[in-house]
Amino acid sequence: MLLKYIIYAKEVRNVDCIFCKIIKGEIPAKIIYEDDKILAFKDISPIAPTHILFIPKEHIESVNFLENQHIDLVGEIILKMKEVAAKLGIGDEGYRIVNNCGNLGGQTVGHLHFHLIGGRQMQWPPG
Ligand code: AMP
Ligand code: ZN
Repeated sequence: MLLKYIIYAKEVRNVDCIFCKIIKGEIPAKIIYEDDKILAFKDISPIAPTHILFIPKEHIESVNFLENQHIDLVGEIILKMKEVAAKLGIGDEGYRIVNNCGNLGGQTVGHLHFHLIGGRQMQWPPG
């Protein structure tokens, strides 16, 4: 049986997951912010002048897999996004935070992530 999950530095990682590989340094990324629980890096295919992905270091597949134990973690990610947006100088002009969940939600990478998108006028409704 394939061992899919490993305990790495006390956290669950998925060996098949590209974002877990970025966390482990196996795939390069332009890191914007890192602490023991959160990693932020530039999206490889930016859709705006600022496009950064914020992920938990714990492998959580999507919002559908969030539990009560993750409430603080998600709150910290959102607050960190606000902080980074301010540091990058786009806080006051505004930006968009996006999470795509599951197939119809448009999620293409199965590791929870929040997009910080800014630097241009956003449109509504999204596609
Ligand atoms: P989503 O479609 O919401 O699942 O978003 C996945 C995002 O991950 C897309 O915007 C991709 O451009 C981005 N992405 C995929 N692979 C990489 C990578 N190796 N480094 C940085 N961003 C990536
Ligand atoms: Zn992962």
